[in-house]
Amino acid sequence: MLRLNNIHVYYNHVHALKGVSLEVKKGSIVSLLGANGAGKSTTLKTISLLLKPKEGSYLFEETPMLKMKASDVVKAGIIHCPEGRRVFPLLTVMENLKAGTYIRKDKKQINHDMERVFNYFPRLKERRNQKAGTLSGGEQQMLAIGRSLVGNPKILLLDEPSLGIAPILVKEIFEIIKEINSEGTTILLVEQNANMALDISDYSYVLENGHIALEGRSEELKENP
Ligand code: ADP
Ligand code: ADP
Repeated sequence: MLRLNNIHVYYNHVHALKGVSLEVKKGSIVSLLGANGAGKSTTLKTISLLLKPKEGSYLFEETPMLKMKASDVVKAGIIHCPEGRRVFPLLTVMENLKAGTYIRKDKKQINHDMERVFNYFPRLKERRNQKAGTLSGGEQQMLAIGRSLVGNPKILLLDEPSLGIAPILVKEIFEIIKEINSEGTTILLVEQNANMALDISDYSYVLENGHIALEGRSEELKENP
């Protein structure tokens, strides 16, 4: 579904990605692991065309991504849920979810997808008219994921959903990620919490200082850390 070939990205003189190649097969959960600063977020930002690589190529469903505009990326079904549970604090849960549908016109399907988000996250349903700024950190993360889902992703790029969240909610969020995937959404998951990511993913890549240092089936990486 998505294939990166030898991607190089620079921030001025910082060579952040040094020839990253990876593949995400349709229907799978792929995790991208590695220490702080390894290049995980840069990889997701490059896939969503927030950053342009200096070298390399990538394909999404056989379309060369460098020919796409950033707005086409969202329309093509690549939705990026960035790090840090970004929600609009003064808008309600419902209003935040509606903001995720800005590129869509199919009202009926949107309502259906909003209900789907509430089925995944009953906590959000109970708090649908509450301002997002009054939610707990974990609930805000759920809202950020929910808002990405109403954008109708084919592939969801999830950046550190566990960051700074109470362990019990992290467990809940990971179970829901698995459920979202089993209903057809392909997921590229960036995580520092390697154990949890290996548990729910099919295949994993480990980034180290801008390189892929290791890759393999998650089950195998878990057995031979
Ligand atoms: P094989 O050559 O036997 O397919 P692989 O290590 O390539 O061995 O794949 C083993 C399993 O991992 C397969 O079930 C495959 O679907 C899955 N897999 C391999 N690469 C990826 C990937 N990039 N994304 C998702 N799943 C993958
Ligand atoms: P990770 O997500 O694995 O923590 P990042 O992709 O955020 O890593 O960062 C990769 C490298 O790029 C790091 O060395 C980081 O300091 C650098 N970097 C990230 N963003 C910027 C930026 N906006 N300007 C300059 N350097 C950056």
